[in-house]
Amino acid sequence: MLQVENLESWYGQTQVLWRVDIDVRAGEMVGILGRNGAGKTTLLRTIAGLQPRSRGSVMLDGRPILGTDATDIARAGLSFVRESGRMASSLTVNQHLMVGQRLARLRGRPGRSLADIWRTFPLLEPLQNRLAGLLSGGQRQTLALAIAYVSDPKVVLIDEPSAGLAPKVAYELFQTLKALTATGTTLLVVEQQPAWLVGLANRGYLLDLGRIVKAGSIQEVITEAA
Ligand code: ATP
Repeated sequence: MLQVENLESWYGQTQVLWRVDIDVRAGEMVGILGRNGAGKTTLLRTIAGLQPRSRGSVMLDGRPILGTDATDIARAGLSFVRESGRMASSLTVNQHLMVGQRLARLRGRPGRSLADIWRTFPLLEPLQNRLAGLLSGGQRQTLALAIAYVSDPKVVLIDEPSAGLAPKVAYELFQTLKALTATGTTLLVVEQQPAWLVGLANRGYLLDLGRIVKAGSIQEVITEAA
């Protein structure tokens, strides 16, 4: 579904990714681990078309996307869920979900109904008319995932879902991610706290100083990271 080969990326003259190879198959959840500054966010940004300078190959569902505009990449079926909070605070939960449904139509995909959303994200149903700006951190992260889900993406990139969340809230969010994988959604998840990915991710990669230093089962990668 998502094939990354020989990917390299720069900020100005400074190179931060070297020869990165990653493969995410349809329906899988794949984790990217690595310490602070390893290049995890840059990797997701590069795949999503947000990095000014990069080279290599990124194929989404057999179609080359590297070097394409971020909007076109989103239209091609890639959703990028960044740290919580990056959403218009003056729109309600329902209005945000409608934006997601519009994106599904732009993608030429059927999208998902609200009934489907409440089944997958039951936490959001009572919050339909709440302004996004009034949601808690965990609720905002859940809404960000729901917006991605409703837009019927081929693959979702998620940057640090647990960031800034209390352990109990992060646990609930990862249960939501589990529900997402059960719907067949393909996920590439960056997470600094590996324990959250145990029992959820099929496979993983360890990034260190901009290079993949380990690829394997999530357990193998966590052991290497420790
Ligand atoms: P963290 O877990 O701390 O978020 P990360 O693994 O996501 O780290 P990146 O944010 O991708 O790492 O950063 C990779 C490298 O690129 C780091 O050395 C960082 O200092 C550098 N970097 C990140 N953003 C920029 C930028 N806007 N301009 C220049 N260098 C940057």
